[in-house]
Amino acid sequence: MARYRGSVCRLCRREVQKLYLKGDRCFSDKCAVERRAFPPGQHGQRRGKTSDYGLQLREKQKVRRMYGLAENQFKLTYKRAARMRGVTGHNLLMLLELRLDNVAYRLGFAGSRAQARHWVRHGHITINGQRVDIPSARVKPGDVVAVKDGSREIAQLKQSLEAVARRTVPGWLELEADKFRGTVKALPSREELTIPMQEQLIVELYSR
Ligand code: SF4
Repeated sequence: MARYRGSVCRLCRREVQKLYLKGDRCFSDKCAVERRAFPPGQHGQRRGKTSDYGLQLREKQKVRRMYGLAENQFKLTYKRAARMRGVTGHNLLMLLELRLDNVAYRLGFAGSRAQARHWVRHGHITINGQRVDIPSARVKPGDVVAVKDGSREIAQLKQSLEAVARRTVPGWLELEADKFRGTVKALPSREELTIPMQEQLIVELYSR
């Protein structure tokens, strides 16, 4: 599967919005969006009016890049959301939020979703005491997501937990930082998903 290996800050600049892909740097004045808030490239500052399709596409790309999913994975998640009861847009956001790599990021075990994915892949994260190395594994209410005992001494992981104060843990999760674990209290409601996105545009794009 093709994987993007270029500059991630370029992705944020393309959306002219912070996607928080780089951990601590995103909160500093070194952030590329803070410095150059216009799309990259020779004509970045001269782009004209965007069509409806363009708006829908940009919204989808933004969310997909924020969660670090490949096109196929994202589309499969959308199809699953569409099959569920309720509002498709909300279902989509909920499914994305309930991914193990995202929950590990939200709990502060990693500075970015990419780093959280790395921790998961390398077996540092457990669900209910069982090691799970699949970043897309979905958690459910009542699950306890924790850092594996033997992995708690990793300096980067400790630093991330110290830095979590800058990113408040959402209300649907409960963090016990001293125990390196967190509990999924409930499914996230739309109000708790404070990500700046218009999920309706993504639904419109895939409904074409
Ligand atoms: Fe995006 Fe973070 Fe880079 Fe800023 S520092 S452009 S938020 S990845």
